[in-house]
Parts: sequence; C-alpha cells; structure tokens
Amino acid sequence: MNAEFRAPKGTFDLVPPRGEAMLAVREAMAAPLRSAGYGYIETPSFEETALFARGVGESTDIVTKEMYSFTTRGGDDVTLRPEGTAPVLRAVLENNLHRGALPVKLWYSGSYYRYERPQKGRYRHFSQVGAEILGTEDPASDAELVVLAVDAYRLLGLTGVRVLLNSLGSHESRPAYRAALQDYLRGLDLDEETKRRVELNPLRVLDDKRPEIQKALAEAPLITDFLSPSDRAHHETVRSLLTAAGVAFEDDPRLVRGLDYYTRTLFEFVHDGLGSQSAVGGGGRYDGLSELIGGPALPGVGWALGADRTLLALEAEGLALPGTTGVQVFAVPLGDEAAAWAFGLVTTLRREGVAADVATGGRGLKGAMKAADRSGAKYAVVVGERDLAEGVAQVKDLATGEQQAVSVNELVTHLKRLV
Ligand code: AMP
Repeated sequence: MNAEFRAPKGTFDLVPPRGEAMLAVREAMAAPLRSAGYGYIETPSFEETALFARGVGESTDIVTKEMYSFTTRGGDDVTLRPEGTAPVLRAVLENNLHRGALPVKLWYSGSYYRYERPQKGRYRHFSQVGAEILGTEDPASDAELVVLAVDAYRLLGLTGVRVLLNSLGSHESRPAYRAALQDYLRGLDLDEETKRRVELNPLRVLDDKRPEIQKALAEAPLITDFLSPSDRAHHETVRSLLTAAGVAFEDDPRLVRGLDYYTRTLFEFVHDGLGSQSAVGGGGRYDGLSELIGGPALPGVGWALGADRTLLALEAEGLALPGTTGVQVFAVPLGDEAAAWAFGLVTTLRREGVAADVATGGRGLKGAMKAADRSGAKYAVVVGERDLAEGVAQVKDLATGEQQAVSVNELVTHLKRLV
C-alpha cells in the first residue's frame, strides 16, 4: 500500500486511459438521444428519503437494504440517489414541465449509490446515463428508447449486447396474474424469506437467481398469458416497431426488474462477457409512478444504461478503449530561453486547435524525447538556443525519425498543415 487512504470499499478511481474511455462511453450513450431531441436535465445527488421509499418501492432490495440514507444536521432525512427516474419525475413535476407540450423527453448522466455487496461490475458508486419520455402511453416511445440504447451500444462497437423484452401488463392484467402466480408459489417448498416475498411482491420471486428456485419456477404461470387485449396490442406494437427498426430482441416472459414501478413494457440489455453482473442497462414503462409520488397521472417510459459495465463490456470484447486522444505535437526545448519560447508555441498551437504539450522541468534531450513518444504525438518540435538564434525549430516526425528545420515564423502554419 502506497498511501494511508484508499477509495472506499465498492468504489474505484478512473485514471487515464480508462477515464477518457468512460467519458467516451457516456458521450456515445448521449449522442443518439441528442439527435432525437431529448433535453438535458440534472438533479441533485441526494433527495428526500421518502421519494425513493415511495417511488422505488418499500419492498424492493434497493429501499430495504441498499440506500445510503442519513439525517442532516438540520434534521432532514435524505438519501444518496440509488436511481434516476424518481428524481427526474420529481423535478419534472416541481418545474411544471408536464404542463407544457407533451411528451417531455429528457436525458441525464451522473453518479448513483447503492450499498451493495461489491463484486466485478457491481459497485457502491456507479455511473449511469438515463433517458425518460413523459406524458405519453404511445408504444412508439417504448420502442424509440430501446432503439436509441441499441444505437449507443453500436456506436461504441459492441456486438455482444442482447435485448430482452417483456410486458408486465397494466392494472388491467397484473392483478389476475399476481394472484395466479401467488397461487403457484404458495404450493412450493420455499424458505421463510421467499415466502414473505410471495405475499408482498410475488413477481420479484421470478428474479431469484438461485438454481433451485429457477427450477421450481419452470411451470409458473407467465404474464404473457394474462395480458388484456389493450396491453397485448401495446406490446405487439413495441415488438413490430423494433423489428422494423432492425433491432433483434428476445421475448423473455420471466423478465422482472428490481424496482416496483414498472407497468407494461420492460426491457433489459445484457452482455454475456460480463459474468454474473451481465445487465448493462435496462428500463421500462412506469405509468403509475407520478401518482405514487403525489403527482397527476403522467405516463412515462425510460431507461438507465450502466456506464461502468459498458466499459467492462468493451474490454470483454477486446475493443480498443475509445476516447484516448493524446496530443498531436510535443515541444522539446533545450535550455531556459528555448523553454520560454516553447511555452509560447504550445499556447498558440492549442489556441489554434492543435493539441500540444511541452516537456517541462528542464529535462535533457533524451528524457524529453521519451516524454514526446509517450505523449502519442506524431511530431516533436525540438528547439535549442542555437536554433532560436538562427530563427528555426526542428520538426521531427516521431514515426519515421525524419527531421526538418522550419522557420519559426512559419512553424504554426506548417504544423497545422501537417496534423
Ligand atoms: P437499474 O437501475 O438497477 O435497472 O440499473 C440500470 C443499469 O445500471 C444496470 O443495468 C447496470 O448496468 C447499472 N448498475 C446498476 N447497479 C449497479 C451497481 N451497483 N454497479 C454498477 N452498475 C450498476
């Protein structure tokens, strides 16, 4: 251990070049949204605890076990946000965005916090890009979001992302299904905690990954057999729009997700190169959420894509990390006078849009040239006192080793032409 302090358990630092790769991942996720007219929204990293308790669901793992909650010095109960949808909806209602033209399309990017058992791909601090469409029940919105997520993964060059699709039905279909599922589950030999879940939130039992539970669920009733005609029609439209958009998906009638608010469309993006934490993103429709947090009826659909796991997926596919740019020109001054001159040169180059860096600390030629190589620059500008006296600088092509004396007056124009 080199230092007294470490990043807290379940968190990690992003250092170059993974830092740049993370930025590129977020940008790739945002690009399809920007070109589809989504507005950018930011909300605070913490909210009143009750927002999540009600919005995410009292019986969910997130609320019962995973929230970073605390009481402030002023006595307010707040929680570091474990997810983005409830805060965004809260902000939409508070800022009256729902009273303007509908639908409201929004995207966001930020840090989220869950007190989970850390493992590869599962952290206590993680990063998501999210998107929401509020104020419409149109199945085209559900399909649009799936397409935009798939386009983001494609932009990054990922080929191993699968789309799982389900419909959980609306209030028209869910009660009958819930009852049928409960009937089935009550007939199984289950442990006490799972039995409690059967009574509280039976759909969540479908998400239990234990092999013995999955085996016992083989004959469980499927939501697809309980969908009302309008829920079925909604789902079929989503499916056919996805097919028309060239997005392959797998129907997964057992797909449920860890938040209580979903209705109708539900989807998850999974990557098989990631081991047990295979979900790189997911989302769905949440038509009743607004009422749950005290708002008017305001249907919505959205997703959140996990940036950390998407970065792991890029690495699992062996893709070159995106966003690692480096500089184009590296100045190597020899001597104090040359150092001052080179400082001016890189300042001008940067202002002219050429990425440039300079050796500092009065390094000798050998060390400075090493730094030039490491910088990723294509050209080094080597300049000593004698060069300056003659009004030239040496421009060296770092790939070929070729070197050419260029007049200092023409240097910036010359380099701009080269890079
Ligand atoms: P969720 O809100 O649970 O649906 O999460 C959406 C996406 O965020 C998931 O598919 C993951 O890619 C990512 N994610 C959720 N929780 C974590 C976590 N603890 N660590 C890393 N990524 C996470």
